[in-house]
Amino acid sequence: KSYHAALEENRKLFNEIQELKGNIRVHCRIRPFLPGEDQKSTTVEYVGDDGDLIIMNPTRKGNEGRKSFKFNKVLGPTASQDEVFKDIQPLIRSVLDGYNVCIFAYGQTGSGKTYTMTGPENATEKEWGVNYRALNDLFHISHNRGDTIMYEISVQMIEIYNEQIRDLLGSSGILNASQPNGLAVPDATLHPVNSTSNVIQLMRVGLANRAVGSTALNERSSRSHSVVTIHIRGVDLKTGATLRGALHLVDLAGSEKVDRSAVTGDRLKEAQHINKSLSALGDVIFSLSQKNAHVPYRNSKLTQVLQSGHAKTLMFVQINPDVSSYSETLSTLKFAERVSGVELGAAKANK
Ligand code: ADP
Repeated sequence: KSYHAALEENRKLFNEIQELKGNIRVHCRIRPFLPGEDQKSTTVEYVGDDGDLIIMNPTRKGNEGRKSFKFNKVLGPTASQDEVFKDIQPLIRSVLDGYNVCIFAYGQTGSGKTYTMTGPENATEKEWGVNYRALNDLFHISHNRGDTIMYEISVQMIEIYNEQIRDLLGSSGILNASQPNGLAVPDATLHPVNSTSNVIQLMRVGLANRAVGSTALNERSSRSHSVVTIHIRGVDLKTGATLRGALHLVDLAGSEKVDRSAVTGDRLKEAQHINKSLSALGDVIFSLSQKNAHVPYRNSKLTQVLQSGHAKTLMFVQINPDVSSYSETLSTLKFAERVSGVELGAAKANK
């Protein structure tokens, strides 16, 4: 297939996706119960094909305890990694046409953010998360277009912890975010990549660096944001014209509320930084969804890093199905409702 036919096809798919609602899409994913968890203790009452979700407050009886939400898509506990990826593939491919795209995973710790973005530890190909699949797909498409456009694909991987940016693929110093329209974090190591095995190796290095200075990887990763950025540069072999695109893949810090009376010192500081950056992110996504002229990127390191103009945004809202997570689940869903700029649904009686 010629590059132009492929481009046209991808444009069509992309426009279809964008037509649905502004530049923001919200996909809610409910993780399955894990071995050892009680399947009966679910807070999720209904998952519909049209993006409907009903959750149940365990302390209220009947309709009073039900609350319904609507998303662009709801992925139930049996949704495969492949299904999750298929929905966002056109968005990802648009990076090769010079778009900037941001994909986030938001939710409390243990709700499946890392599973969605990266996959489980030592994932098989079937279990790969969005970031491996995205790179794999971009390699594939850029190869197919090789007769007309020469693409260079490179990767940065950073972590934001306590409002400080660290390079996960290079020197360990604290880095700065830059002005818009350049590379978001110019001093973070930029690794050219040309194969999936390249990428797997790099990500391993990044993950290992993420654990540095923390007692346990899980603890650290739940309190920091990790941002994998895929930079694309394409040169049209006929005209010499260049295009640039970037894909940010963001595994956010856990959104759970921390009991302020119970924590002090470092933990409190971490919690405050996380709150601040997640709410700055909420404000940015909200003003993008409203197509506001001014988008408040400057209020946190996270939003500074993601400031790249013309960004298309997709947020995975991750849900833990267990009843014990009800209040966190509710606040996650309300965050999603607010940032997407629409009333997603009032309590619906029955379904
Ligand atoms: P988070 O990044 O939000 O803290 P994780 O991605 O680490 O959460 O998920 C918590 C646990 O649940 C992990 O053991 C992970 O492998 C498992 N898990 C999450 N989502 C799924 C899924 N869709 N299918 C199977 N296991 C999952």
